[in-house]
Amino acid sequence: QSARKYTGKVEDCCCDFETVDAINEEVLHPILQDLVKLPFFSYNYGSSVLSLGVAPCIFKVKLWCDCPFWPDDGMCRLRDCSVCECSDNEFPEQFKKPYNGLSPDSMICQEGKPQAAVDKTLDSRVFKGWVETDNPWTNDDETDNAEMTYVNLQLNPERYTGYTGASARRIWDSIYKENCPKYPLEDMCQEKKALYKLISGLHSSISVHIAYDYLLDESTNLWGHNLPLLYDRVLKYPQRVQNLYFTYLFVLRAVTKATDYLEQAEYNTGNSEDDLKTQSLVKQLLYNPKLRTACSLPFDEAKLWQGENGPELKLEIQKQFRNISAIMDCVGCEKCRLWGKLQVLGLGTALKILFSVDGESHLSQQLELQRNEVIALFNLLNRLSESVKFVHEKGSSIKEVIKQQ
Ligand code: FAD
Repeated sequence: QSARKYTGKVEDCCCDFETVDAINEEVLHPILQDLVKLPFFSYNYGSSVLSLGVAPCIFKVKLWCDCPFWPDDGMCRLRDCSVCECSDNEFPEQFKKPYNGLSPDSMICQEGKPQAAVDKTLDSRVFKGWVETDNPWTNDDETDNAEMTYVNLQLNPERYTGYTGASARRIWDSIYKENCPKYPLEDMCQEKKALYKLISGLHSSISVHIAYDYLLDESTNLWGHNLPLLYDRVLKYPQRVQNLYFTYLFVLRAVTKATDYLEQAEYNTGNSEDDLKTQSLVKQLLYNPKLRTACSLPFDEAKLWQGENGPELKLEIQKQFRNISAIMDCVGCEKCRLWGKLQVLGLGTALKILFSVDGESHLSQQLELQRNEVIALFNLLNRLSESVKFVHEKGSSIKEVIKQQ
């Protein structure tokens, strides 16, 4: 049963498995794969810099925060666990060192590397058209640029890192036990159930990426799919597959709900050709006729918070999610922390779009997103889309693989 093809409606969502697989494979996956590689996601200092061939350095993230809960006890064995930050040569000369008109205080210093200090005023120039706004669902203050590091996601793929054992287990345990406890799903109110499913779906997706890109032979550095791991951690548990699809549809709904905002957002990188491509791909995704007809409402957020205690419940769940976001600072493996933080910010952005803006009909006028939130949202959707595709491709054939073990 666990290795079967999934059919029928995705639990608590509005579309069925077959439709999700079809729109993912035909529409969303190809668009998203192209989109996340575009230099909108790169730091860009103008066309002259682009013409120097500066590698994209796309996501800014506070990677070296103190864990508020336990002292760091990183458990990574592999070198692959560390993040390669944007290196010096990804920044043009004038942004690296203090220069005329800028005090040292206006520079961001990358971890212990004063020579790699980056001009802090950069954000206001490069992120022109984007607001500085905090996300009420996340723990980090998104408007605080101190200690932010610039990371090229393309160079730091989410995959097996060797992070395992007590440290990793403690993070997941703490998330599930303290912040989104799993009671029998039927005993949970739908809002708490949704929070649990979002985290479990993200957890499934992380496991799928580990299985997709696994170090099969350390001595020869051979990487490839680890199908038994995919089966043992995800496919064996139909509920985990359900939750992965749920999370995908939830995030997709947030993206489509923010259509007006995302369509008009400034994808300005100084290279008009790339910018037009970004805009065009975003529109292709948002207005895709197949998506709009086959799965026009991937998730119905209007059903939530309707009870008498709706507002209090929302505050409670927001606090729990913020806690989960804080726990990401305790992940003892840099690369896992990077993707953990990015994807939790992506989920936080989806929650903000769906639940933190008043007045449904005026969404586009009130919604304000940071550039980093949009990067996280699309990258998360892309990760989930990759996971759904891999699960769909391997789900039905995997029984044979397992039998041969
Ligand atoms: P875990 O995946 O650690 O699961 C712990 C327990 O949670 C399981 O025993 C089960 O009871 C429950 N559980 C498992 N899956 C689900 C689910 N989908 N829904 C509900 N409950 C579930 N490792 C890497 O190699 N690369 C990474 O990029 C990476 N990123 C990570 C990011 C974060 C935020 C964290 C906390 C860990 C990350 N890890 C990563 C570690 C990885 O997730 C596992 O913890 C590790 O591989 C050990 O796996 P495990 O078999 O002990 O089970």
